[in-house]
Amino acid sequence: MIVCGDCGGFYGPKVWNSTDQYRRTIWQCNNKFKCGCTTPHLEENDIRERFIQTYNTLFADKEKIIANAKKPEQTFLTEQFIHALTKHDHSLTEWDEAVWQMTVDTVTVQPDGKLLFRFQDGTVVER
Ligand SMILES: [Zn+2]
Repeated sequence: MIVCGDCGGFYGPKVWNSTDQYRRTIWQCNNKFKCGCTTPHLEENDIRERFIQTYNTLFADKEKIIANAKKPEQTFLTEQFIHALTKHDHSLTEWDEAVWQMTVDTVTVQPDGKLLFRFQDGTVVER
């Protein structure tokens, strides 16, 4: 779901310092060494933090978002999206994998390190 804005490939997780207390997960383009992509690697915590901020800003007015997302020809993904927003009737204070799964379509990493969030309702936000 995390896409490289350079080559169009997928980002994958890598664990750094897996044996000590500095253990952290970073995400990088799976083709980085094949294509020499200019997109940076990102810390998982950084991605999550930016998702939470984006989610809370974007969906502050949930009723309006839900009303706009409702269409006569409802897709399964849109239904999931609306369900996620309805069920979590509050701002995110911590990482929630289920909300991420149900609301995000793709996240594209730009060469400058910014993230382009595309949500299931078609909303696109850069952060
Ligand atoms: Zn790439």
